[in-house]
This record gives sequence, structure tokens and C-alpha cells, in this order.
Amino acid sequence: MEANELLLATPEAREACGVFGIWGPGEDVSRLTYFGLFALQHRGQESAGIAVSDGKQIDLFREMGLVSQIFDEDTLTRLKGDLAIGHTRYSTTGTTTLANAQPMVAEWKGGKIALAHNGNLVNARALRDELEAAGEKFEASSDSEVMLRMIARGANRLGSVEDAVAACMPQWAGAYSVTILTENCVMAVRDPYGVRPLCLGRLNGKAHVFASESCALNVIGADLVREVEPGEVVVADGDGIRSRLVQRSPRQALCVFEYIYMARPDSQIGGHLVHEARRRLGCQLAKEHPVEADVVIPVPDTGWPAAIGFAEESGLPFGEGLIKNRYIPRTFIQPDQRLRELGVRVKLNPLREALQGRRVVMVDDSIVRGTTKSRIVHLIREAGAKDVHVRISAPPYRWPCYYGVDTSNRSELIGARCSVEEIRQAIGADSLGYQSVQGLLQGLNIPRRKLCLACFTGRYPIAIPKDVKLSKLDLEEGTWREGRGEAETEAPAPSPTETQE
Ligand code: SF4
Repeated sequence: MEANELLLATPEAREACGVFGIWGPGEDVSRLTYFGLFALQHRGQESAGIAVSDGKQIDLFREMGLVSQIFDEDTLTRLKGDLAIGHTRYSTTGTTTLANAQPMVAEWKGGKIALAHNGNLVNARALRDELEAAGEKFEASSDSEVMLRMIARGANRLGSVEDAVAACMPQWAGAYSVTILTENCVMAVRDPYGVRPLCLGRLNGKAHVFASESCALNVIGADLVREVEPGEVVVADGDGIRSRLVQRSPRQALCVFEYIYMARPDSQIGGHLVHEARRRLGCQLAKEHPVEADVVIPVPDTGWPAAIGFAEESGLPFGEGLIKNRYIPRTFIQPDQRLRELGVRVKLNPLREALQGRRVVMVDDSIVRGTTKSRIVHLIREAGAKDVHVRISAPPYRWPCYYGVDTSNRSELIGARCSVEEIRQAIGADSLGYQSVQGLLQGLNIPRRKLCLACFTGRYPIAIPKDVKLSKLDLEEGTWREGRGEAETEAPAPSPTETQE
């Protein structure tokens, strides 16, 4: 979905956050955390932070901006200690302010607790109301602070942060992959559905490392040991590593978008290398939607592996047709109207020689609002392509996400409003083929019961409170039946077919 950022100011669907943690006496934990966060930068670019403990006290540094802009030699040298956690943030709840940057720190009677969270609690509002009624004061507006304050209160009552976390987990509904730091331990906590990834690694035979994705282990030379299991709390301290399975769930619900778009292709999730999973999706897509053409091109960067797979399966040549400028920061000056009309060229420029007079298959991972895709199709046509056939490695995106991916309201999702033929017309393609849900599962080779597919099916594995649900639905459509409290319910699909040629 890289191309969705082409409008610069209004990316269509955005990542949530990246978390990291390390227990490593004798290691330069602040620098290792810095490099871990650098590898997780794709999961959030609004703010970042590192909290370090030397066994006696916790120091915190967090700022708005990219990891490379926030930390310098001086900052990292000042953050001395043996254990640390870190965070890169993109807001899905709470505003974009320094107060909401993470890690966040709270005090309890035994010291301090720092917390870094990836995901989204669907019952955060109700929990916050309860805490406020009990006299709790909040400094920020995110669900992560609700979690932190609940842990601190629980620790005061139970005398242990670890026990407090275990006591809080049954009260948290939604997605959470969390790293927690106290003066003398690092914890990793994952919700019982395992919506967001979280893994455990080992560095130099003795340091224990936690990260949202295994690419952050690779970058510091750590080996992937295993995933933190859904519902599990893993604690690393002076006694080694111990695990507690706090909650079991009847099913898992790993976000399928981690495979399609969010995770880095060099990460391994659920035993699958993400790049390979995307390549297989491209193969499956070519089986479902073959087309006569001269060349297969990816929309860079996330469309690459699926385009490779499509080319392999179809026997069509693979080529590069769009060159991406990789150096556009989030604070990029907004294009004026004239530049906007030049379209996406600021970020993508077509390779005219590769496209002219050719029938092009353009492969990407998703269409959210459709505006960006129509500009890219236009760009390819302008460069002289004879036909532009669009192939999407995911099914139509029809339902909003409540579990930590910042997507549009339902009324803004083109897949919710339009049939595939209407979308084809809107983006100006000669043909449009989406992967079916069945094809997605087949391509990934992962059972349906292990994945969240809610943005394609409307079946939400974790029940969404009514007030939260209504905030993202288009009530005029009348497709949402009210009053359902069950955990997983299917909503009607607006379009009977996944393909339009
Ligand atoms: S609704 Fe979609 S984006 Fe959100 S967790 Fe489920 S699969 Fe992922």
C-alpha cells in the first residue's frame, strides 16, 4: 500500500506501532534499542522513544519524528542501563502529541513502569471512564495510557507488576502486543487472539530481546527464538526467562494485513517469511485472474513480491515500470494545486521505455479509497501503455479496522460503496482483478481460524462495542445490523463478484 501514501498528506491506511525490548546486562542496550526501532520505523513515523533502566531507575527519552531524527550520540550515551524498551508510533487512538508518544511511564509504590504498545483496545473508553470515576488523572488520550494506569493501580494492590499485568489482561478487549520495563525486568505481553505480531530472540547467548517483527532482531544480530504466544506474558530478568499463559482464546486472529502490507518482507511471522507469503499471493492471483499482456510491473515497494509471483505463475515478463522517490518525509511541503495535478510524480515516476506501446499488468496489495490508484493508472497510460490491467493481491477492503490500523471510515472505503466494475471505472483500468478470500487463504497457506480477515469479511473476531462501531460505520447504507454482541458476525458484502474484466 506504499502507493497510498502518494497523496502525502492523506495516506489511506497506516500502520500502527512497533515495539521493542531487551534485557541485556553488559550490552549497550540503548544503541541496540535504537537500531531495533530503526528496523521498525515502517510501523510508525510520528514519534519514537526509548526507556532504559540501570537496575535502580528508569530514564526516558521520547520525541516527535523519525528514529534517526530523534536520537543522536549524546542522547544514546546518556541513556545508560542494562535493560530497555522502545517504541515507534503511528496514532490510531489519541492525538499526535508528545504526551501520547511512547514509551509512557507511570509510578507505583515499588518504583516505575514504562510501557510500549502496538494495537488498539476496543473498550478503552469504558475503562478510562471507570478509572476517572475512581479518581485517576490522565496526562494523554491514548488507550496505552489506560493500560499503563491499570497496571500501576493493580501493582499497588497486588505488590507485583507481573501479577498486575496478568490481572489486567482479562479486562482488556482488543489488540495488544506490549513491552513493559520495570527497574529490573522486561516483559512482553500479547493479547489472547495474537492480533499483532510479537517475537522473542536471543543475542550473544545471554541477552533476551522482544520485537514486533523479526527484522528488528536481525538488525542487531539476535536470533529468532519463537513468537510470544497469544495470551502469554514472558518475563526476562536476573533469573532468566519465564513464561505465563494467562489467557486462552478459542481461536487466533493474527491480522492478515501484516502479511499483505504492513510487516517488512524480511520478517518472519507465524513461521512464514513475509516476502515469500506475498510472492505466493501473487501466484494465486495470476491463477484467479489471468490476462493477456506484455509485462507485469509492481507498484513499489509493497507490490514487488506479489508482482514477482504473478509474473512467475503467468509466464509474463517482470519489469520495473515505476520508479519511487524514497526520500519524502512526513513533513513534506504540500503540493499546490498545479503540482497536485501533476499527480503522483513527486513520489513515482514512470519508466516510459518500459511501458510504451505495451499491455501492462500492474500489481499492488490493496485499494482503500481508490484516488491514488486512479492517478497511478493515469500515469502509466500517459507514459504510453496500451492497456493497464490492475491486479490486487488482497480482496476488496470493505470494513474498517478497530484493532490498530488507522483506516478510513466505512463510507470512505471504495470497496464498501462500489462494485468491482464501478471501482474499475473509477480508477480507469482496462480490467481489475481482486484476490478472493479463498485465494488469499490458499496463497498464504494459513487456516482461516488463525487470522483476522475482518476488513474483507466484516466478521470481527473480537466484539466491537456499539459506540466504537458506530463511529466508523456509514449508517446510511443500512448494512450494519444493530444490537449484536457476539464476537464474530458476518456482514453482507456489497458486491457479488470479486472480478471485473
Ligand atoms: S480488521 Fe483488517 S487490518 Fe484490522 S486487524 Fe483485522 S485484518 Fe488487520
